[in-house]
Amino acid sequence: RKSCVSDSSDSVISSGSDSEGQVYKVVLLGEHGVGKSSLARIFGGVEDSNDCEETGNTYDRSLIVDDEETSILLYDIWEQDNSGWLKDQCMRMGDAYIIVYSVTDKSSFEKASELRIQLRRARQSENIPIILVGNKSDLVRSREVSMDEGSACAVVFDCKFIETSASLHHNVRDLFEGIVRQIRLRKDSKEE
Ligand code: GDP
Ligand code: MG
Repeated sequence: RKSCVSDSSDSVISSGSDSEGQVYKVVLLGEHGVGKSSLARIFGGVEDSNDCEETGNTYDRSLIVDDEETSILLYDIWEQDNSGWLKDQCMRMGDAYIIVYSVTDKSSFEKASELRIQLRRARQSENIPIILVGNKSDLVRSREVSMDEGSACAVVFDCKFIETSASLHHNVRDLFEGIVRQIRLRKDSKEE
């Protein structure tokens, strides 16, 4: 078993399934270099190993959010290969999505919008939880995308928004707790 997430050890416990035995698949999307694997490693409780460029990791953890446990399988496989098949799979398999851009890279922000549109196309009638993430908020001086631009984009795309810094572990816990809360909201509204 991997150790706890370092910035949120009290909200993360070892892997397992929730009382209903359901595991939610969360897929990371975004351009190369925006910080997907860094965020995934924090979620998975793997300490920073900046220069390992491995791809295709999946992290299995349970989070206790609002006194309730939820199991998440986080997929960092978007860049595993360039086959259209895998990308297509990614668009179909997720129960929820984290679309990441870097606040220091305008083109990654534009790419995030494209991904949101692709996702909407692939899953037309479904109301899937999505969080738009502006990562690298610590790099103040090389910022190219303002927080206002990010949140305005999220309003247009009808999804949640958060800025994070994987380097400083800032808001990373809020991000994953946020995705759990969104999954629960959608689940509850479906059950009604
Ligand atoms: P991926 O290609 O989307 O998986 O991105 P990586 O997680 O591999 O990160 C790409 C590079 O950006 C690495 O050198 C990371 O150390 C760096 N990086 C990731 N997140 C942050 C962050 O929040 N702040 C800073 N300053 N660098 C980051
Ligand atoms: Mg990566």
